[in-house]
Amino acid sequence: MVCDDFTLPQERSARREYTDKELVVFGVPTYAGRIPNKILPFVKTLFKGNNTPAVIITTFGNRAYENSLSELKYELSENGFIPFAAGAIACQHSFVDIGLGRPDEEDDRLLRFLASQACRKLREAKEIPESVEVKGELKPEKYYTPTGFDGKPVNFLKAKPVTDKALCDHCGICVEVCPLGSIDSSDPSNVPGICIKCHACVKKCPRHAKYFNDEAMLSHIRMIEQSCQRRALTEIFY
Ligand code: SF4
Ligand code: SF4
Repeated sequence: MVCDDFTLPQERSARREYTDKELVVFGVPTYAGRIPNKILPFVKTLFKGNNTPAVIITTFGNRAYENSLSELKYELSENGFIPFAAGAIACQHSFVDIGLGRPDEEDDRLLRFLASQACRKLREAKEIPESVEVKGELKPEKYYTPTGFDGKPVNFLKAKPVTDKALCDHCGICVEVCPLGSIDSSDPSNVPGICIKCHACVKKCPRHAKYFNDEAMLSHIRMIEQSCQRRALTEIFY
C-alpha cells in the first residue's frame, strides 16, 4: 500500500499515474461546499488513472458537503478513474467548535461498512466496477456563500492569521504546516501568500500565538456555532 499525501506544497509537484490493476482511495476536504479552489487545479492535473477503480472520500466540518463529493467524482472520472464507492465523512470543523469528536465510532462503523461493500463490488465486477451515484452537482459553478451572525453575506476571503509577537518564539512549526506555503520563514508573523483559513497554523502553534481577528470571519463563526450544533450525518454510497 502506498500513501500519497498532497497536503503540503512540496508534495504537489510530481504527477501520479495509476493502472487499472491498482485501487485508489482519494480524499479531499470540503471548503465552501466544494473541493478547495486552491487544490482543484492539482486534482485536475496531478492525478491520472487508466480505468483505475477509486473510492472517493470528502470530509466536511459538521455543516454540509454540498457538491464536494460530486465534484470529486466528476474530476476523477475525467482523469481516467472509475469512482465506484464514495463517502462524505462528518468531521470537526476547521475553525468553529462544532463536530467535536468526529469522526466517531458511528462514522468508523460506516467507513468499515463502505470498505466491505467496495471490496464486494470489486470482487463481483467482471472487468471494471460500475460508477457510483452520489449527491450533488457534477460541475458546480458556485461556492457556498458564508453569512454573518445577522444573516447577511460576509466576505473574509482576504482574512489572514495574526501573530502575538510576544508569544511567538520563531519555532517555525506554522511555516512547515501551512498547506499553501504562505507564511514567511524569516518572520512567521508575516503571511504574504494566500490563506485558505485552514487553521493548521493556529492549531499547531505550541505557544498559541496565532489567531484570526477578522470581524466578518468572527461573525460567520458565531453564526455557524449557533446553527450547526446538530450531529451532521456521514453518508456512504456504493
Ligand atoms: S508556530 Fe507559533 S511560536 Fe512557532 S513560529 Fe509559528 S507563530 Fe511562532
Ligand atoms: S490558516 Fe494558516 S496554515 Fe492555513 S492557509 Fe492560512 S496561513 Fe496557512
